[in-house]
Amino acid sequence: MNETKYAKLTINGDKKTVWICGCFQTTDNYFKFCDKHNPTLQKAIQSQIDELDMTLIVEENS
Ligand SMILES: [Zn+2]
Repeated sequence: MNETKYAKLTINGDKKTVWICGCFQTTDNYFKFCDKHNPTLQKAIQSQIDELDMTLIVEENS
């Protein structure tokens, strides 16, 4: 399997919901999408951001 180091580095909470395709949500409400759904979700999020008309960009360096 292709378990990523990325996931290990970024996820602190336990998995709350795991879908059969590989997507999951943690108890911290962090979502990790599988390779199949990630591009689709990225597009959906982008379109939602456009609809929200968010103009502020905040850079966090913490
Ligand atoms: Zn998926």
